[in-house]
Amino acid sequence: MAHPGPHPGMMQLVLELRQNGVADPIITAMERVPREMFVAQAFQERAFENAALPIGHHQTISQPLVVAQMTEALALNDRCKVLEIGTGSGYQSAVLAPLCRRLYTIERHKALQDEALARLQALRIHNVTTRCGDGSKGWPEQAPFDRIIVTAAAVDIPPVLVDQLAVGGIMVVPIGDEQHDQRLVKVVKLADGDTEITDLGWVRFVPFVPDDGHA
Ligand code: SAH
Repeated sequence: MAHPGPHPGMMQLVLELRQNGVADPIITAMERVPREMFVAQAFQERAFENAALPIGHHQTISQPLVVAQMTEALALNDRCKVLEIGTGSGYQSAVLAPLCRRLYTIERHKALQDEALARLQALRIHNVTTRCGDGSKGWPEQAPFDRIIVTAAAVDIPPVLVDQLAVGGIMVVPIGDEQHDQRLVKVVKLADGDTEITDLGWVRFVPFVPDDGHA
């Protein structure tokens, strides 16, 4: 059977990403991920809107433009070992995986982790390791990471994750409280252990919930 090819809605989305200044390599990576696979049946028609959508458990699949901006900020290459906190639907993971050597991704909801893993397997993405647990502890056995991406809003830059970042490594994380929009922050770890922080603008994410949280 012939390959079905990209969904027609993808063309409009790609145009919107381009108009917002997203660079070609990131556009190509996103064109290859069928976003409709990552949203529930009820939201199929909206899969290519540039919007966050519900994925159950009070969580959302990230907005495509924000996925693009975070992916771009990570400046990935095929030698990068990457940690993602907040697997959610697995959409951001599917965009990242082909751009890096290996991706480790943590999700606190077991049902979401299982669904994300099934989607990644269906897409024959084999360089992703998933774990169910509290991402605020990072993944110490696999540290250090060249890149870290947090896809839920933290109140402050998590020091544990800075510790697990390699020197010269990059972390992107939305910072702010859950009642408001947050600032997307890029953290570069310097040779002396210090960090260089760049503000990348407003974003809106569901909260990062530590182990003792109830969300
Ligand atoms: N990147 C995802 C969007 C995830 S939404 C996508 O593309 O679909 C944020 C996710 O972070 C939610 O699924 C939420 O359950 C998860 N999360 C929140 N706090 C967490 C924590 N402490 N550890 C692991 N996952 C967490």
